[in-house]
Amino acid sequence: MGLDPLGLEFQSYTVPEVTEELRDHAGPSYRVAVSTSSGKLKIQSPTSQSLGRVRERAVALGDRVVLSKADASVLALALDLIEQGSSPIIVSDDYAVQNVAEGIGIAYQSLATLGIRQKFEWTYYCPACFRRYPSGEVKVCQVCGTELKRKPVGKQSARNRYSRSG
Ligand SMILES: [Zn+2]
Repeated sequence: MGLDPLGLEFQSYTVPEVTEELRDHAGPSYRVAVSTSSGKLKIQSPTSQSLGRVRERAVALGDRVVLSKADASVLALALDLIEQGSSPIIVSDDYAVQNVAEGIGIAYQSLATLGIRQKFEWTYYCPACFRRYPSGEVKVCQVCGTELKRKPVGKQSARNRYSRSG
């Protein structure tokens, strides 16, 4: 509801269920439309395998965790993105979503803190030779001269890595 993908420095994703929830809200649905057409936001459905894994995990974590279809899809899409080599951060203030994300090992961030850039830990890397640079002191790869890119590292993903065994 309060998130503007255009204000983010990285690619954002959501699931069809979330955009449907926003349909009746003029401001958010306008932001979705603008963000989607600019490529900043991708609307993508998760694989059924990931969805099944999320459901299993939610059940294992106890019956206090009640996930909506949209919640489960967001978590499952994050799993898909991890499998594709990305480091997604789920943005949600929902306790159930955060709880399951924690249980699976997906980084998350509440909407309230998203606007504060310092909350993110950044990792800098060379998109050409993939060398990593821990701080932002250098702007160009010291080996091949390519301009460095950066991506956020969630605290959860750093210490609680997702594993295929679940
Ligand atoms: Zn390089």
